[in-house]
Amino acid sequence: MISGVQYTYSMDIQIYGKPVLSAVAEPVKEITPELLAILDEMVPMLTTHRGVGLAAPQVGISQRFFVMNAGDKLRKVINPEIVKTGSAQAEMEEGCLSVPGIHKRVRRPKRITVRYTNEAGETVEEELKDFPARVFQHEYDHLDGVLFVDRLTPVARKLIGRQLEALKEETA
Ligand SMILES: [Zn+2]
Repeated sequence: MISGVQYTYSMDIQIYGKPVLSAVAEPVKEITPELLAILDEMVPMLTTHRGVGLAAPQVGISQRFFVMNAGDKLRKVINPEIVKTGSAQAEMEEGCLSVPGIHKRVRRPKRITVRYTNEAGETVEEELKDFPARVFQHEYDHLDGVLFVDRLTPVARKLIGRQLEALKEETA
């Protein structure tokens, strides 16, 4: 934590039903000490909640950044773009800290090429496949206000309709 940084955010995990989770987040204009402090604070939140990724909207901040650790390395990702998507798809079970208690299989491209700014302000371009590609896409979706449950087939979505309604009622 950087001393003297004024937090305007509570950094609580936002649960399904909160409007910030379905909003399209704003691009980060500048890498400020506050942004770096928030990113630093999001990393231990990942560990605490046994997550592999955490996006800014999930802590109530409608800006385009996230942290992820898909087992290969820790990434602090600012203003990401998915510049290329492979044609091969894969299905894998996903969960989300903002949608507790629900795990469902989601189809996504296996391979993507991404570009983002890291915490040092450098532009990074990487080709990701399998699990890191999956986590990146899940977190990227959060920045567009999309949750993994929005990517389910209508039938699969219907099966968890009641659970989702219950989460929404708790949030309200
Ligand atoms: Zn998520």
